[in-house]
Amino acid sequence: MKLNVTIIGLGLIGGSLGLALKRDPELQVTGYDRSFSTLDQAFRRGIIDKIATSIENACEQADVIIFATPVNTTVMMMQQAVGWTVKEDVIMTDTGSTKGPIMEAAKALLERGITFIGGHPMAGSHKSGVTAAKGHLFENAYYVLTPDSRTDSNKVECLRQLLEPTKGKVVVLDAEEHDRMTAIVSHFPHLVASSLVGRLSAQQQEQPFVNKLAAGGFRDLTRIASADPIMWRDITTQNRGELLKQLDGWLEEMGHVRDMLTSNDPTEIYDYFAKAKKYRDDLPITSQGAFYTTFDLHIDIPDHPGIISEITKILADERISLTNIRIVETRTDVFGILVISFQSAEDRERAKSALSKAMDYSMQIV
Ligand code: NAD
Repeated sequence: MKLNVTIIGLGLIGGSLGLALKRDPELQVTGYDRSFSTLDQAFRRGIIDKIATSIENACEQADVIIFATPVNTTVMMMQQAVGWTVKEDVIMTDTGSTKGPIMEAAKALLERGITFIGGHPMAGSHKSGVTAAKGHLFENAYYVLTPDSRTDSNKVECLRQLLEPTKGKVVVLDAEEHDRMTAIVSHFPHLVASSLVGRLSAQQQEQPFVNKLAAGGFRDLTRIASADPIMWRDITTQNRGELLKQLDGWLEEMGHVRDMLTSNDPTEIYDYFAKAKKYRDDLPITSQGAFYTTFDLHIDIPDHPGIISEITKILADERISLTNIRIVETRTDVFGILVISFQSAEDRERAKSALSKAMDYSMQIV
């Protein structure tokens, strides 16, 4: 008999999960979303097998229920779920980027005998909605599960097996540990990116040309500030405690930077940058981290007519799909004139090798 999976919220993450899970012929996927046009698109794209007309209806026969709604909505739904009619051995999980408040809300479900295992697939995009959903979104990405300490380990294993078609790397973490680490590598950098954009915008009136210069490295550095503000509002309010700790550490760090600038000692300044360069250069580039990732290849080509079509032809001949291609106009702080983005590190490696066989331009993964 097929296993019934219900996905609530069929946006980028819920839709991508549907596409990935439907690779397993033993799964029957039912979808529920507050937007009928999303449900309709999800059904037409083969993301779900069945449309549910209400949440209760979607969950009654489900073996696994996945909440893929914004985190505050998920918490609210979990509170309501205490009163839903569900199968006795149902497993509930979510996809939220923060785990503390979710696992707090899970306590009432656990008391009612319902298994809830927190989940966070650490891949995404700054695009949202069902149209951005991709079946390969979670491939090679960490997929964190945060069970309560009382949860039966067989249920965790059951969920891990169910998630296999996503080709994500499932890891089990404590919810608090998850929130601390994601604050460091994702949530706090998001605040910094938004604040850098805020500083740029505040100085635009005095320096009208500055936004043109920001088109290159600045734009790359602050790419994450283009993500959905509703999602980031929810993440920020839910992980506020860890964010405040990160902010205090950052202010302390900026205090050191200020002292360094005041003393203007070239050796100290060199050491500061050299230490950061060494650590950053040693970070892994072959797997996805907690950030949503694009896999960029920078190519130092001369700007002559026809060069882009030559490059895209080489990639097309090798059947390598690219997600973005752009010319960088301000290059004081970036390598190369052309930046091509790929869906995976593997596609980027294949592209690099195909292009280096065909052309004599230097290329870098930065
Ligand atoms: P999204 O905006 O693309 O999709 C959310 C979907 O939920 C939409 O289709 C919306 O209509 C639906 N929805 C909202 N409120 C609802 C309600 N009350 N009832 C039914 N449906 C409702 O968002 P997303 O990027 O897919 O994010 C979903 C979850 O996954 C969030 O908790 C987010 O923190 C998490 N997440 C996002 C990313 C990312 O990069 N986008 C990465 C990992 C995890």
